[in-house]
Amino acid sequence: MAWDFETDPDFQARLDWAAAFVKEEVEPLDHRLDSIYDVKNPENARLVRPLQAQVKEQGLWACHLGPELGGPGYGQVKLALLNEILGRSHFAPVVFGCQAPDTGNAEILAHYGTAEQKAKYLKPLLDNEIVSCFSMTEPHGGADPLVFTCRAERDAGGWVINGEKWFSSNARFADFLIVMAVTDPEAAPHRRMSMFIVPADAPGIEIVRNVGHFGEKVPSHAYVRYTNVRIPADHLLGERGEGFAVAQTRLGGGRIHHAMRTIGQAQKALDMMCERALSRFTAGERLSDKQMVQEKIADSWIELRQFRLLVLETAWRIDKLQDYRKVRKDIAAVKAAMPKVLHDIAARALQIHGSIGVSDEMPFVSQVVSSFVMGLADGPTEVHKVTVAKQVLRDYAPTNALFPAYDLIAERERSMEKYPELEEMAEAELA
Ligand SMILES: Cc1cc2nc3c(=O)[nH]c(=O)nc-3n(C[C@H](O)[C@H](O)[C@H](O)COP(=O)(O)OP(=O)(O)OC[C@H]3O[C@@H](n4cnc5c(N)ncnc54)[C@H](O)[C@@H]3O)c2cc1C
Repeated sequence: MAWDFETDPDFQARLDWAAAFVKEEVEPLDHRLDSIYDVKNPENARLVRPLQAQVKEQGLWACHLGPELGGPGYGQVKLALLNEILGRSHFAPVVFGCQAPDTGNAEILAHYGTAEQKAKYLKPLLDNEIVSCFSMTEPHGGADPLVFTCRAERDAGGWVINGEKWFSSNARFADFLIVMAVTDPEAAPHRRMSMFIVPADAPGIEIVRNVGHFGEKVPSHAYVRYTNVRIPADHLLGERGEGFAVAQTRLGGGRIHHAMRTIGQAQKALDMMCERALSRFTAGERLSDKQMVQEKIADSWIELRQFRLLVLETAWRIDKLQDYRKVRKDIAAVKAAMPKVLHDIAARALQIHGSIGVSDEMPFVSQVVSSFVMGLADGPTEVHKVTVAKQVLRDYAPTNALFPAYDLIAERERSMEKYPELEEMAEAELA
């Protein structure tokens, strides 16, 4: 009976080290540096590199990776426990070598890249010497990839890309972009697109503008135009027409990793809510003595606990089944639950803090905005709920009967057939 909620003492010691290190050494960076992706900025390098070296010494670098790629291969459950600590700080993921979207892009390169591409892009990406961009969403539609029009055409020299992409995060800092483009417009819908590595210095790439989401210090979501961008034939990742399958390689892991870090963000809001409730007096008593405040604290704790269990169970299933296709429903459920949990807890923390809660001296408005980001990036919540519902329904079948088989009258009839003696005993008692 292997069903256990305990962390082994060795790993707990590492988690304790990580928690103290993030609080003491990494969180202060959030207030000094602008973008975690600006890895070539000398100030970033000066402050971040020594911390990364300490993480490496502790064996906690790139914990999402297996040993073949230089990580410890802890698996998703241990990663979840670590990521919920890293989620408390903006810079922690990059200090620990596991920041999105580079983690997902590295997975794609590891699966589909040639030896030369791995040496040129994957190795420096894993070492955080460079960062990358995933360029898939288009200006006229993101939730439905079947409407994408950005085109890649084959010619004698390789591939030529033309089209526009939207919200390509970190394109401004990236050394390469992973671009999804239509290669076979006449093919079946999910065989129309392919995935490519595009070096950021390839002629014809134009950042039309960098869009910032609300509160972002450096606007980093690029509106990118590709005009006759030429890339060699071997920069196709995976097979031609396999773009959707390649995208899935990165999206499954990416979504659950966001959820792990979101636990940390929500816990941080809850911690602040509790401290403030215990500290602030109004109308003769502490906020924490008021039942409506207690309700906010209780609801927040319960919702976070439920969400954490869902994330950990999903992580455990990924470790056990080793196949993201078998945990699609679980990951979609985590992705759909995540924005609401963060939103509701951050909003309650904001409310309990009163005026200062809404100010830019507190993190709550930014966390509420983050909750919306979590409900959009990697696909909107609605789409993930549809996935959950469709997968749930697969386990059921319709019936042609006029009334449901579980109607109480039918149930009683079945019960009487199964246990006729009970009926006879009841009649005997009455007689
Ligand atoms: C901070 C941030 C970072 C991002 N980074 C990247 C990136 O690096 N690379 C990249 O390629 N993309 C990125 N995206 C884009 C993201 O993937 C898209 O925003 C998302 O897929 C939704 O596409 P859209 O914005 O075009 O919205 P639309 O497709 O216009 O959808 C708008 C809304 O319509 C509703 N809707 C859509 N479909 C359905 C449905 N089936 N049922 C019910 N309602 C529905 C939802 O409410 C949805 O939010 C990022 C987005 C954000 C916010």
